[in-house]
Amino acid sequence: MAIHTTDYKQTLEAMREKLSAVVPDAELQLKAELVCEINTLKQEQSVVILGHNYMEPALFHTVPDLVGDSLGLSQAAADTEAETIIFCGVEFMAETAKILSPNKRVLLPAKKAGCSLASSITAEEVRELRKLFPNTPVVTYVNTYADVKAEVDICCTSSNAFDVVRSLDAEKIIFIPDEYLSRNVAQDAGLPITVAFRNSAGQIELDGDFTNGILAWRGRCEVHEQFSVSDIENARKQFPDIEVVSHPECSPEVVSHSDFAGSTTKLVEYVQKSKAPRFLILTECSMGDNIIAQNPEKEVVRMCSIRCPHMNQITLEDTLHALKHGEKEIIVPEDIRARALSSVERMLSIQ
Ligand code: SF4
Repeated sequence: MAIHTTDYKQTLEAMREKLSAVVPDAELQLKAELVCEINTLKQEQSVVILGHNYMEPALFHTVPDLVGDSLGLSQAAADTEAETIIFCGVEFMAETAKILSPNKRVLLPAKKAGCSLASSITAEEVRELRKLFPNTPVVTYVNTYADVKAEVDICCTSSNAFDVVRSLDAEKIIFIPDEYLSRNVAQDAGLPITVAFRNSAGQIELDGDFTNGILAWRGRCEVHEQFSVSDIENARKQFPDIEVVSHPECSPEVVSHSDFAGSTTKLVEYVQKSKAPRFLILTECSMGDNIIAQNPEKEVVRMCSIRCPHMNQITLEDTLHALKHGEKEIIVPEDIRARALSSVERMLSIQ
């Protein structure tokens, strides 16, 4: 899928073929120059470029050697011979790559590419939750920083969250940091849910009694929390034959009004397999563009214009800068990395 040539005309031609439906030609002409420069430097270095599903189309469909979701990319990159990983995604994703590939240099092509979920909880807050509820297993969604992963018992992804919770076979489980993912899992598992948050006095407070089921944390994805049931109703009114797919970081109301909910990889697979004529895809809007570019016969209704400001930090210019200058290198202290790895490996062992 990547474009490997360093010839400008061939690059532009290949980009036009894939992307003319979603990227203006003037932009393609400018970006083709960057792609050629990146490809030239790639040939001189032992490097693998990873592209998360939320990268903008002119990046996603050109320089990454591998594309997909964060954990799948980190696992695949660990299996390559490359000495350097450039992770076109946000910081917690690059950290996950470093956790799995300690001997590789991992670069994030942005000075700062955060995530509202990852920054919603700290390692200290996990320690506080553990003190409040001793002997209660703690699960974290992979959308957290390495020091948080180091404090928990097991990680999960949006694909395996339900299986991870079930595998623990515990009466009480702490599940951080995405409140909506926790609510969706609790709903599927038929478990009661209580939500913890830090109040204005700086203390951890609960919205009810946590006697059994899931204790969630009030973290939200600033993109997925914006989708509403009325978005779905409006789409269905206009296009009665539309299929609505959503990411489980959306609210339980949005998920239950959708035809399918799943991780970014599962959403792509679903749309590719479905015979429906058109789709509403309730996740970061670049992914809709990337699906259109890969599946020109599918119609994706352009009602989504919610771009993640953190994913938006990653550009072809910055990818070129990372290759030229080796920046920004992701460093995870070894004691944190080793403990975070245990949480990731425990998850992988139940798959
Ligand atoms: S889309 Fe949401 S979960 Fe993903 S990086 Fe952006 S803020 Fe974080």
